[in-house]
Amino acid sequence: MRVLVTGGAGYIGSHACKELARQGHDVIVFDNLSTGHHELVKWGAFAHGDILDLAALRRVMRRERVEGVIHFAAKSQVGESVRDPGLYVRNNVGGTLNILEAMRDEGVPRLVVSGTCAVYGQPERVPITEDAPLAPVSPYGATKLFMERMLADFAAAHGIASVVLRYFNAAGADPEGESGEWHDPETHLIPRALMAVAGTAPALELFGSDYPTPDGTCIRDYIHVRDLARAHVAALEHLERGGASTTLNLGTGTGFSVLDIIRGVEEVTGRPVPRRIAPRRAGDPPVLVADAARAKTLLGWEARCSTLPEMIASAWSWLNRN
Ligand code: UDP
Repeated sequence: MRVLVTGGAGYIGSHACKELARQGHDVIVFDNLSTGHHELVKWGAFAHGDILDLAALRRVMRRERVEGVIHFAAKSQVGESVRDPGLYVRNNVGGTLNILEAMRDEGVPRLVVSGTCAVYGQPERVPITEDAPLAPVSPYGATKLFMERMLADFAAAHGIASVVLRYFNAAGADPEGESGEWHDPETHLIPRALMAVAGTAPALELFGSDYPTPDGTCIRDYIHVRDLARAHVAALEHLERGGASTTLNLGTGTGFSVLDIIRGVEEVTGRPVPRRIAPRRAGDPPVLVADAARAKTLLGWEARCSTLPEMIASAWSWLNRN
């Protein structure tokens, strides 16, 4: 398949490009490099462009004879979305609308998009299944939920088939060291803890130690970026086979607390993580753990390399090499 990957120069996008290429697909990365990196475009052609530019999306789809789209290009920081909600509506809702309209106009039949567990807000029950109540608490989560709604409406009106992949916490780096997490500023727990060990960031701030969890810190479901990448390709191939549009959680079903992660980082690096207790971060639910049974049933997908040591060690070696 000839696959357009919006946001293919970013963290999860670049890993998906590698997996697409490994499976024999042709990749065209479409990225404005606002947060992505040209150095991570290694597995296909590159078209520099912005998803807010409808004409550019149409052009690239036509010129490259695109047969499927994987859409990663989005703003994805909860805190930033609270401070600047307009930016999130414009990019995540407006950008997705452009992609859908360009696909409709150019006759591109299938789309896989990155969704998020943030659409569940503060879940009533864990593990979370796809039919849990959708009640995002941040502008980020709200824009992603509206994106899902647009997909359903475009499927009904224009026959564009789609799979939404609601990720839990992406972690780790390419095991062969060819890509990894590269955010500026870096806000995520595992890279922040590793940077604190390396001395390239101040002591890790542990956001909240009084949550209603066994050790008082937040519990998350961390999933290796390579496992996420495999799921995108499997979802696209599912649609190519004529499979129905659907929404799938991607996680391991196992939760780790912030303190578990700190201990894991100390085991992998052999050094203590400098840290201090800080106030809770707004909008953080105590526990987010996926029920990913539907992805297994439908795609035959399950996490293969998402153990804590594999995720932390690959992130550590990426950080050291770069
Ligand atoms: N966290 C933390 N200190 C940090 C970054 C994150 O204590 O510097 C906590 C955060 O409150 C959450 C968990 O680590 O409970 C995972 O946060 P991250 O930002 O990595 O991912 P998110 O859950 O926001 O997608």
